[in-house]
This record gives sequence, structure tokens and C-alpha cells, in this order.
Amino acid sequence: MSAAKNKPEQYDILIVGGGMVGASLAVALKPLGYSVALVDAYSFGAQQQPSYDDRSIALSYGSSLIYQGMGVWENLRSGVTAIKQIHVSDKGHLGATRLSAAQEKLPALGYLVESRVLGHYLYQALENSSIELISPATVTSITTLPDALEVTLEKADKTEQIRCQLLVAADGTRSRVRELMGGTVDIEPYQQTAIVANVTPQKPHENQAFERFTANGPIALLPLTENRCSLVWTHRPEDVDNTLQLSDDAFLQALQQAFGYRLGRFVKTGKRSAFPLALNKAKSLTATRTVLIGNAAQTLHPVAGQGLNLGLRDIAQLVELLATREYTPGSGDMLKTYENCRQPDRNTVIKYTDSLVKLFSNDSHWLGHARAGGLMLVDRVPVLRNVLTRQSMGFRHRKTRLGRGLPVVKP
Ligand SMILES: Cc1cc2nc3c(=O)[nH]c(=O)nc-3n(C[C@H](O)[C@H](O)[C@H](O)COP(=O)(O)OP(=O)(O)OC[C@H]3O[C@@H](n4cnc5c(N)ncnc54)[C@H](O)[C@@H]3O)c2cc1C
Repeated sequence: MSAAKNKPEQYDILIVGGGMVGASLAVALKPLGYSVALVDAYSFGAQQQPSYDDRSIALSYGSSLIYQGMGVWENLRSGVTAIKQIHVSDKGHLGATRLSAAQEKLPALGYLVESRVLGHYLYQALENSSIELISPATVTSITTLPDALEVTLEKADKTEQIRCQLLVAADGTRSRVRELMGGTVDIEPYQQTAIVANVTPQKPHENQAFERFTANGPIALLPLTENRCSLVWTHRPEDVDNTLQLSDDAFLQALQQAFGYRLGRFVKTGKRSAFPLALNKAKSLTATRTVLIGNAAQTLHPVAGQGLNLGLRDIAQLVELLATREYTPGSGDMLKTYENCRQPDRNTVIKYTDSLVKLFSNDSHWLGHARAGGLMLVDRVPVLRNVLTRQSMGFRHRKTRLGRGLPVVKP
């Protein structure tokens, strides 16, 4: 891959952003034989890399199939916790619904994994592979040439040019690549902030996940290893500092009050982190020789745990196109087909997540009863429960080989 001095390096595909989505794409591309480079602003594996922080991720069953197709699931499965049931309730109102893996005749509805653990297995899969890892380096400019893009990278002590046929923006919510390629984004702040921590309850969680809607926003508790639960507790922005500054005991007490005693008493908490929440939706998923994936394309409220799952389906679709002879990387045909294939799934998930946030964050008396009635209805009507379960499991997009858990092969 080395080139003569001062001559730009050339790659078929350049991925900017080595977070959960960019690194997953790099792993997925390994069997296809393209020359691929992956760039990140932080050294790979460094504690500060923002994608691999204190959050845990609920991978849908569909996403576990995608990782299976990529060949990383065998290793990753030792670090995940199966979700066998999801219990959805609305504080202060009757009505709850339970989604269960047994009803779906599947081993799990999904799996919980700490983002650092996921990062470890993704980078393990990239070690000693043909993928070129470039870090720390940031993109500073992009020039469109007649037959390629030329990307300028700033490294610690120098700048460097790289040419590519296809540029993939996997550089997160504030994507610099999107901006440099003239892409625009609709941003709708939710006036909510998620406080994330791992907490330990007295009772065994028995692989149950809980989604509880409160007047301030939703609380999600998801089962982790060692009987810990990953907490995502939505707050009004003005209450965040107060909750972050509470002593551990006072924090657990406040959580107890909001969540109740379904898991007994909460006895321990880990470090707390805060994430301000907004819906970010890129107007287009493509630009000249460029595809936007993951948070660079859309950033969602974590209430339904869909962000990474959607990003993995972006990857499954992109790799599906790159695995056929019909499309050359970065061609107009390829970009158009990608955009057409991804918009329906993306729009459905954005609408579903956004509606959940708005419906369940509204404290009106009338809506409270409507929600309670809705939850009871979903619980009693198998067809409705099935629709909700299949949405949560990421089953509504099984057209790609990776989506079916199958490996992709060289075009
Ligand atoms: C509290 C919380 C809980 C969540 N829970 C779930 C869940 O249960 N299930 C789920 O599916 N999703 C969940 N999500 C969403 C999920 O975390 C994101 O969708 C996912 O992390 C997006 O990954 P990404 O790689 O696209 O972006 P990021 O994680 O933002 O990674 C972007 C990468 O790009 C690099 N970068 C940025 N700018 C540049 C540049 N100019 N040059 C080079 N590199 C650059 C960064 O260093 C970083 O490594 C949750 C989100 C939050 C906040």
C-alpha cells in the first residue's frame, strides 16, 4: 500500500470515524478484497475515544445476526448478556406490556454489551488484517477530482493527502465530512439529557429489561453481567447537575422512587455520565462519492435503543452493494441505490423513536390514559405485540446477506 514520497496514498474506500459504526464497517469489508483505510481522531483503543465510553448498547437480535455474518459474534457473545424479556410501563398509570423471547421462539430479544467491550472485539478483528488503521488523524479538507476524492488529514506533526473512490462518513453526530461535502442536517433538541450509570439491584435481573416512562422522560434498565443493570435515565436539562452531584446513596434513593421496587432495592451504583439528547437527521445520505452512516446520518434518542442497530443496517446495505459487480465504489448508481434502499428503514425508525419520546414525555392526563390503554392493548393483542417485538428486534430488514447472518463474499 506504500506510495512514492509526496504522492497521495490511494484507497478504494476511506472510512472516517473508527467508532462503533466505522469500525464495524471496516470489519464487514474485510472479505471483499477492496483496499480500505480507517481514520480516527483518537488513537485506536485509547480511553478517550468517544464512541467507547461508559454507555452500554442493546444490540437487537437482528444486529447479532449482522455480527454473526461478519464473523465477530463467536468472540463477542462471551461479553454480552441476553435480554429475554422487556417490560414496558408508564409511571402513575395502569397498563404494562411484556415482550418475550420465548413467545418469539428465539434465544433472546437482544443482547446488552458495554461499548468498550464491543470496541475491544472490533479492533481485535481488525488486527493483522489488510485494513489500514490511521490514527490519531482528523479530516481538514476534501477536494473533488474528476475520478476520485482527495482527503487531507492532519496528523500530530504533518498533513497528508489520501485519494479514494468512496468516502464513508462514520464520524458521528457533528460529522466534519458531512459538513465539508456540503451536507445539511435538521436538528431537533429534545430538552432532555440521559444520565447513564451501571447499578446493581438486590434481586436477580433474570435477563429482563425495563422501559419505564415517567413525567420527566423514560428510564431504561437493561441487564448486564454480574447482576448489574445499565441505567439510561432521562432528565430535564435543569435537573441534570443536581442528580450528578448527589451522593451515591441519595442517587440510588432517587432512582428507587422513580423506578419502583420491581428489582428490589438498588444497592450499588457506578460512575454517572450525561448525554444531552437531540434528533439529528442529515437531509441526504449521500454526496459526491460519499456515503453517510451511523450517527453521521442520524442521531436518535436512546429510548428505543435503535441508534447503533440502525447504523449496523446501514453497513449491511452498503456492504451488500459493494459485494456485487454491478456497482463500483463511489459511482452515482451505487450512491443512488444506497439512498433508496436505506431511506424507508431509516424513516420508520426515526418516526417510531421520535413518537415514543413525544407520546411518553407528555404529562397530560388524557394522554396518560391513552398510553395506559395502548400498553394494555399491546399486551393483550398478539398481532400488536408481535409488531412491537419485531421492531425492537430489528427484524424488519432482512434482505441483505449480513442481515440474515450470512458472510459476504468477494464480487
Ligand atoms: C446514552 C445512550 C445510550 C444508547 N443506547 C443504545 C442502545 O441501547 N442501542 C443502540 O443501538 N444504540 C444506542 N445508542 C446510540 C449509539 O450509541 C450510537 O448510535 C452509536 O454510538 C453511533 O456510533 P458512530 O460510530 O456512528 O458515532 P460515534 O460513536 O460518535 O463515533 C464517531 C467516531 O468518529 C471519530 N471522529 C469524529 N470526528 C472526526 C474527524 N473529523 N476525523 C476523524 N475522526 C473523527 C470519533 O473520534 C469517534 O471515534 C445510545 C446512545 C446514547 C447516548
